[in-house]
Amino acid sequence: MTVSAVPFLRDPFAPDAPYALRIGGEEIATVAHFDAIDPSTGETWTRLPQADAEQVAAAVQAARRAFPSWRRTTPATRQQLLWQMADAVEADPARWARLLATENGRPLREATVADVPTCAAILRYFSGLAVDQRGDQIPIEAPDSLVYTVREPLGVIAALIPWNSPIITLANKLAPALATGNTVVVKPSEFASPSVLEFARLMEDILPPGVLNVVTGFGPEVGAALVADPDVAKITFTGGSATARHIMAAAGRVLTPAIMELGGKGAMIVCADADLDAAVADALTGIFMANGEVCVAASRLLVHEDVHDAFAERFVEVARRIVVGDALDPATQFGPLVSAAQRDRVLGCVARAVAEGAEPLVGGHPLALPAPLDGGFYLGPTLLRDAEGVTSGSRDEIFGPVTVLERFRDEDDAVARANAGPYGLAAGVWTRDLARAHRVARRLEAGIVWVNRWFDLPVGAPMGGVGDSGFGRELSAETMREYSAPKVVNVDLSTERPLLWG
Ligand code: NAD
Repeated sequence: MTVSAVPFLRDPFAPDAPYALRIGGEEIATVAHFDAIDPSTGETWTRLPQADAEQVAAAVQAARRAFPSWRRTTPATRQQLLWQMADAVEADPARWARLLATENGRPLREATVADVPTCAAILRYFSGLAVDQRGDQIPIEAPDSLVYTVREPLGVIAALIPWNSPIITLANKLAPALATGNTVVVKPSEFASPSVLEFARLMEDILPPGVLNVVTGFGPEVGAALVADPDVAKITFTGGSATARHIMAAAGRVLTPAIMELGGKGAMIVCADADLDAAVADALTGIFMANGEVCVAASRLLVHEDVHDAFAERFVEVARRIVVGDALDPATQFGPLVSAAQRDRVLGCVARAVAEGAEPLVGGHPLALPAPLDGGFYLGPTLLRDAEGVTSGSRDEIFGPVTVLERFRDEDDAVARANAGPYGLAAGVWTRDLARAHRVARRLEAGIVWVNRWFDLPVGAPMGGVGDSGFGRELSAETMREYSAPKVVNVDLSTERPLLWG
């Protein structure tokens, strides 16, 4: 680990006006507030509105009122508006990058090249699909029948999102929901609300009032009130599996369906014939991009025994050189974790794995950086060795910059270990053997399998998991089906009726 030594002028994001809820096209003040903390310094940088239960209900009603006219807008209109939304997001990438760095510690260099273009690309992708929503004509044997389906929007969508990639996750939910004609109430994470409130401000002149509403506050209060509202037609959630269980229980009481994008424990299998330099480079990106706070992180490295030591040596050598520092510093490669609680949680996971026998090869301890970063939430890039994969480090989602190195003997061993555990989001295999690549891809139980790469989530490829990683697919054409329902139109073409009565 290296600390950035290049001097720079710290310039945290500052909102143009105090933040408020967005309900029915208006900014609505709240009685209660909470602080947004800059994770690089631990200092409060802005104040956030905390919605009460009445305001959550008002947001749902505003979305409900906006629904009849929004659903009647033509697909071409929705296409145009989604395209304009993307243009608005892309207009000032530097401003977004500063906001995301200040908000959740995303290094400046990543926010500009990853978050902003990806958010815009998602909006543009669904803009394209908005004009291509099709039903089916059902082949029916009866000659006098015409049966077809049309896709219809559902109503008010409640979108609950986490803090790690707020504008990407927001676009993942908002774009298909709006493209299909629904209206939305968003509940951002309490650790990343400003970017969502800024997004809503930016869309003020693009979207009609009530189409996009935002309520901020804490999950167990504001989030819980939103998912329990009987006027919500569907919940779309990205977050942890434990939260998902609470939400599913609440949704069950009002019979509201849900899309669940949950956590993961991504197993990267490196075979003996792999291009080792490429595999090490991809493993480093796979775990340390976005400070390791990524659902599809390469958080288990299963390496064949013949190349295990060489892999470990190269990985550790680069991990030690990663520049850790202020997220707002352009020289920083790796920023702070989002909060003190998250840093302590991750440290607790490391301590437990070590107590169970895992061995830290690099990192694993909090970092004290010089002022003004001494109050920040730093934890260096970490590699633990757990050769047999028997500790909690190899099982639990840590959701931080910690990956575990395991040693495997053969393909069956690697696949069995990768498939052990409750998650099934992302997995990958590195090999030069074509047949093995496809065979292993087929055997891995995951929503996404990468071959000789990691961390590529192209817009258009369905994103989602199996098992405890959730259900439903985002980012793809089939996502349009998640936000619409088929209506059957069954037409009688006959001119006569058989006499059955009287
Ligand atoms: P979280 O589950 O704590 O919170 C997610 C959202 O749910 C937040 O807005 C939160 O306020 C809200 N919430 C919390 N409790 C609630 C309740 N009782 N009722 C209603 N809403 C509630 O998750 P997090 O810590 O913000 O994010 C990290 C998790 O998200 C990790 O598990 C990660 O793997 C997952 N994640 C998954 C994906 C994916 O696409 N599969 C993407 C990013 C993050």
